Amino acid sequence: MKSWVESANSPATDFPLNNLPYGVFSLPGIAPHCGVAIGDYVLDVINIDHGIDPKYFNRPSWNDFMAAGPDVWSAFRARLTEMLTNPQYEESVRAHLVPRRDVQLLLPLDVTEYTDFYSSKQHATNVGTMFRGKENALPPNWLWMPIGYNGRASSVCVSGTPVQRPWGQLKREGADPEFLPCERFDIELEVGAIVGQPSSGMVSVEQADEMIFGYVLLNDWSARDIQSWEYQPLGPFQAKATATTISPWIVSKTALEPFRTASKEREIPLLKHLEEHRKMLYDIDLEVVLAPESGESTTLARTNYKELYFSAPQQLCHHTTSGCSMRVGDLLGSGTISGPEPENFGSLLEMSWGGKNPIGLNGGGTRSFLQDGDTVTLKGSAKGDGYRIGFGECVGKVVPARDALA
Ligand code: MN
Repeated sequence: MKSWVESANSPATDFPLNNLPYGVFSLPGIAPHCGVAIGDYVLDVINIDHGIDPKYFNRPSWNDFMAAGPDVWSAFRARLTEMLTNPQYEESVRAHLVPRRDVQLLLPLDVTEYTDFYSSKQHATNVGTMFRGKENALPPNWLWMPIGYNGRASSVCVSGTPVQRPWGQLKREGADPEFLPCERFDIELEVGAIVGQPSSGMVSVEQADEMIFGYVLLNDWSARDIQSWEYQPLGPFQAKATATTISPWIVSKTALEPFRTASKEREIPLLKHLEEHRKMLYDIDLEVVLAPESGESTTLARTNYKELYFSAPQQLCHHTTSGCSMRVGDLLGSGTISGPEPENFGSLLEMSWGGKNPIGLNGGGTRSFLQDGDTVTLKGSAKGDGYRIGFGECVGKVVPARDALA
């Protein structure tokens, strides 16, 4: 399908007509509000005649639109597609296209809650091997349920936000813990699922899929030295609370529909409530790029969303089994997505194997963990025939720790 917006028809764009992802933008003198990416532009959706109440868009988040439900989601999308395809709308709609390079992008939603899972078997095996040894790598519950922890919604920030190196308790071998800046600061390559409908009581995997509004890239910054001392027995706490960066565009389930793919074969049969009766993962290529301060970029890893063992609907179903209610704007991190080979690992901890094998960078230098001034960019896209459904970029630069004791 071709748009009269020429740049949307380029095979190189992240934002063709069949993507239409949802973001929040601001311009000098204009209050932040909702927009939709198309080619090189942001479509300002407040003042065009799409037939959906503008109150949903004249605010700095998509939460009210999400709360309106799947019928409104699909009516809006169908109407925008028509208006961006049929040349009779060009004259009236073109005035509401803002060049994307001119806007500032903000968090696309009010993140009401944030939970992070641990659903890549390769990642869980790698980390478990380093922390507990090969024999005890995968916890005994791992194949039975998508395990996770409740994170901090307040830690979630939009792509481009600088990330300050945290302080914490570091425990060196044979010594008492010391309060110092983190020395093993790391990234986690993840995809976030955004809950667009509330629940009370348990939902099925199928209902969970219906509740999901869309997906974003997510970097779950992690302080490994703080984590390894604090995590037993209640799991990560301060190690994961510095920042969680998400990409600025929410890619809808509809845009990803052609890329649905089945989960991996089960190694033990799942309990009935967690079984999937349709494809719940997506074929999305993912990569991690690191650029040192004024240095050359290096692609550190490439992997794919379909490497997960548990899908977002399974995670969401499991989350509600206790009766835990979910809210519009709930964010679920997939867990670090690692593929089978070292070049598919989604964290520096795994790539450098706990610092034992530093990673070579283009233009010289190595990394075991992040240095101040490093910029990390996550990229993701689902590749179709002559087009791709892109997520944009999820970027963060590490800035030096401030003196916490001053
Ligand atoms: Mn994580």
